[in-house]
Amino acid sequence: MSTEVAALAAMLEESGALRRGHFLLSSGLHSPAYVQCALLLESPARARRVGEELAALLAPFRPDSVLSPALGGLIVGHETAAALGVPFRFTERQGEAMELRRGFELAAGERVVVVEDVITTGRSTRETIAVAEARGARPVAVGAIIDRSGGRHGFPVPLVALTTLDLPTYPPDACPLCRAGGAAEKPGSRPGR
Ligand SMILES: [Zn+2]
Repeated sequence: MSTEVAALAAMLEESGALRRGHFLLSSGLHSPAYVQCALLLESPARARRVGEELAALLAPFRPDSVLSPALGGLIVGHETAAALGVPFRFTERQGEAMELRRGFELAAGERVVVVEDVITTGRSTRETIAVAEARGARPVAVGAIIDRSGGRHGFPVPLVALTTLDLPTYPPDACPLCRAGGAAEKPGSRPGR
């Protein structure tokens, strides 16, 4: 285990970010485990450290800027951009469509890294890559705190992550926890969760 991964495992533990139960992920899949990165990043000191570690992994791609999908990518993307010393911008959903709004611009050929908290299906990240390409920028890599995609993200650029978690996910109609009679909880939807 590398020092970075050991440090992240310790931070996940101390922050209580790794939760067990029966969850409905934003991807629509169900899972017995969920990483609440908001808890990991609740401490600005931890968030800064996570950003520094991701920046070290992304620096070899020589990024000109960081682009993150809101909401999940905002804090980690900003901390990573701060550590890299490059601008930070974000995309956001307008209805179903992922868009670059608020007057943000990307230059033609600009080397963009897309930074997310957790990669599960990778949908928001793929859409953010597409937004950057449509603006003439050049996505060069994806960075994430946690890769739980099982390698099925389908990105056209390399993915670097601080750690890989092999947590099971199920389509709702094939979820053993549902079959056992439990209802999936949407993380963050209950006070104190
Ligand atoms: Zn379920």
